[in-house]
Amino acid sequence: MKYELKNGWTKDIDKEIVFKFSEGYKDFLTQCKTERECVAETIRLAEECGFKPLESFDTLKEGDKIYAVNKLRSVMLAVIGSEKISDGVNIVGAHVDAPRLDLKPNPLYEDGELAYFKTHYYGGIKKYQWGTIPLALHGVVITKDGKSVDVRIGDENDDVTFVITDLLPHLAQEQMKKTPSTVIEAEQLNLLIGSMPVDGEEKEAVKANILAILNEKYGICEEDFLSAELQIVPAANAKDVGFDRSLIGSYAHDDRVCAYPSLMAILTTEACDKTAVCILTDKEEVGSMGNTGAKSDFMKLILLEMMDKAQEGATELNLLRCLDKSYCLSADVNAAFDPNFPSPYEKNNSARVNYGVAIAKYTGSRGKGGSSDASAELMSKIRTLFNENEVLWHVAELGKVEAGGGGTIAQYVANLGVETVDCGVPVLSMHAPFEVVAKLDVYMAYKAFHAFYND
Ligand code: MN
Ligand code: MN
Repeated sequence: MKYELKNGWTKDIDKEIVFKFSEGYKDFLTQCKTERECVAETIRLAEECGFKPLESFDTLKEGDKIYAVNKLRSVMLAVIGSEKISDGVNIVGAHVDAPRLDLKPNPLYEDGELAYFKTHYYGGIKKYQWGTIPLALHGVVITKDGKSVDVRIGDENDDVTFVITDLLPHLAQEQMKKTPSTVIEAEQLNLLIGSMPVDGEEKEAVKANILAILNEKYGICEEDFLSAELQIVPAANAKDVGFDRSLIGSYAHDDRVCAYPSLMAILTTEACDKTAVCILTDKEEVGSMGNTGAKSDFMKLILLEMMDKAQEGATELNLLRCLDKSYCLSADVNAAFDPNFPSPYEKNNSARVNYGVAIAKYTGSRGKGGSSDASAELMSKIRTLFNENEVLWHVAELGKVEAGGGGTIAQYVANLGVETVDCGVPVLSMHAPFEVVAKLDVYMAYKAFHAFYND
């Protein structure tokens, strides 16, 4: 096949199939604004397709479909193949956390007779982008008596919304001299949540009113914020972008635009030679740390459990053999070339919208620092696989060599011995409150992951 880079729409593409797949993806985006919501929705969709919790199986055999949840914030799914698990598995790993503003443990305060939540941003954001846009509050609060309260306010039309205010241009003469990273400072990312004083309170009557409402509506008291995970996310839902409806705008395409296609790929995998594994992990945006991140032992634990139930022997030797013979598509987004900001991109090696999935042989920054580097042999295998299955793909680096950089979970999976390469959807305005991807690329990610599982 001739190697030529071309816009995918110039090829023989069934627009109806591509657009239809995107409808499911948009629903997923609208439903899932936090990693917990992604995990809950994943379980719901998986159960609909016959997946069952791993612990419900005494033994595992070919064709069994399982899932295992890691502390409500990450999840692993598998379809047992005809080959032994210890002979290696095919892993697609995406992440379901996204940049956002977390509430501080002591968030609630009053200033100037207005009530606010203090926030601590999570992941790499341009802080100024979070001012003056409608924001929603999602998460969970564990109350004093141990009750778990789900919070989800601000997405429906008749819901209230929240906002971080900014200075009017008329009075911004000093502010506009600042650098963009300080135009709105981290400690100014304070969420406006009310303004009405309650009767009979001398001090902080606005805050008191908010607490009364929270107590009445959710049964929450102020101390309960200490045992909560509350996230401020954009209130806007996923929407088609452009007169031609070819693009999707949404919060958190990074990395749900890979998580959803990888989930759909495993849910539509019936029989496979190598066991198919889908991991939707947490904490990628802060370095894959912690017991729900890709650096945790969760995948190893579940592989051991699976080998145990498949009667292969849950030994360290078998685990290491399994990982050594496994393959992984680290499914994460790449930076789509932006004609509006061309300078940090190198045009021969940039991801492009509508060119299909972008394969990144390596990530990292400045001299491939902090990157695993996929082998020529692995690149050959993936390229052949995609070509044979009519997956639109191209190769890309994240910008010019010294323009910046970034990482994914690839290096942590590769550290385990797994043959790993990054492969994901190009994104415009990555990490912004409203990111943009192309429908064609979303569908191609599904095709890519499905071909990988069914190789
Ligand atoms: Mn990502
Ligand atoms: Mn990211």
